[in-house]
Amino acid sequence: MADPAVKVTRHGYALADELFQVRGDDLHVGGLSVREIVSQLGSPAYIYDGAVMRRAYRRLAAVLDGFAAIYYSAKANPARGVIRLFIEEGAGVEIASLGEYHAAIAAGAKPEQILFAGPGKRHAELAAVIEGGIGEIHIEGLDEIARLRAIGRPVRASLRINPVPAVQVGAMRMGGKATAFGFDEEDLDAAIAAVAAVPNIELVGIHVYGGTQILDAAALIESWRHAITLAARVARTIGRPLATIDLGGGLGIPYYEGDRPLDLDAVAAAIPDLAASMRSEPLLAGARAVVEPGRFLAGPAGLYVSEINAVKTSRGVRFLVLEGGMNHHLAASGNLGQVIKRNYPVVAPAHMTATPDQPATVVGPLCTPLDTLARDTGLPALAAGDLVAVLQSGAYGLTASPGHFLSHPAPAEALVEDGRIERIAR
Ligand SMILES: *Cc1c(COP(=O)(O)O)cnc(C)c1O
Repeated sequence: MADPAVKVTRHGYALADELFQVRGDDLHVGGLSVREIVSQLGSPAYIYDGAVMRRAYRRLAAVLDGFAAIYYSAKANPARGVIRLFIEEGAGVEIASLGEYHAAIAAGAKPEQILFAGPGKRHAELAAVIEGGIGEIHIEGLDEIARLRAIGRPVRASLRINPVPAVQVGAMRMGGKATAFGFDEEDLDAAIAAVAAVPNIELVGIHVYGGTQILDAAALIESWRHAITLAARVARTIGRPLATIDLGGGLGIPYYEGDRPLDLDAVAAAIPDLAASMRSEPLLAGARAVVEPGRFLAGPAGLYVSEINAVKTSRGVRFLVLEGGMNHHLAASGNLGQVIKRNYPVVAPAHMTATPDQPATVVGPLCTPLDTLARDTGLPALAAGDLVAVLQSGAYGLTASPGHFLSHPAPAEALVEDGRIERIAR
């Protein structure tokens, strides 16, 4: 019985309509019903719709046309098929480990299309990517400069800069504060001098990554503008033109009820001015901007789907206990950096025409109350064996989750496009 006093969230239904197709009772992803896909893969499963990824890429590419190249940030979803899809669309790949380097190469990236960032690059990782070939190393600290000097081979590099507080943006603030990422803007001249003293490092650019999950177009544009200003400063300091201005990733997607999507039209409207400010500095006239999104490209295309293993009621709250939970999808449980736990969009993908008016709290099988995927979300009346799907799950899903916790099996994973299911092996 629905309790009118409970305020439920239901934003998954609007999002499912917008991103995928609903035919009769069934949500269709990549040309097949979720029910059919799960019958082939088993439950639980991550399902990624290739066409939705391509659509996100093409939309962003159209906005950035002639201004910035797109590098897919592999850590958002390092599945080979996913990286390959974005390479097919024309993206480069941004990596943060030797493992991601191997994944990018296996997916078909050319070495010169790969950028290597990350605050903890070990000597062996740097040596291996330089040996195999790499587009650029994004240097994050003095130790890295010393390692590159010790390796001694010629390498193109950019300096990652941690901007001053005035320009920090986004939900998870990665700029402005004390951080392990990059050189503080205040210390930029010392960093430039340290790199200049190493003959085998060719300083070709800068990298500024202001924050993640940015939904405010004005904040994003502001951080890009600041990066261009910093690039001009670096170019003048070294007295040479720069080739790369990496503006970072961080483009957000709507997860929670009331979230407004990033206004890409507003971003598009700001591009001519940003491009002009780049061209107005002679030492940046030949530079190319780079944007390296992960979440924006991969997130909306993914669903995490599980059968309900049990339904129970405790003190008036109805619990749907799934076969997998935060062990597969930490982010949906609110334990991957969220301050306030709000519900990811959730639907019943094989009951799309049933009214979602039954408050349900969706939990996983782990022995901890942290393993809650949605509280008081509106779903139809469901029973054990029915399916529940968590949307917006294509980025920071499986590989950002504590899969070994409680020793349950890993979920299946598949990229689905034009009715074809391509299983992903990790
Ligand atoms: C994680 C990361 C990204 C991607 O961030 P999104 O918020 O997913 O766009 C880009 N660049 C670097 C250096 C990163 O660490």
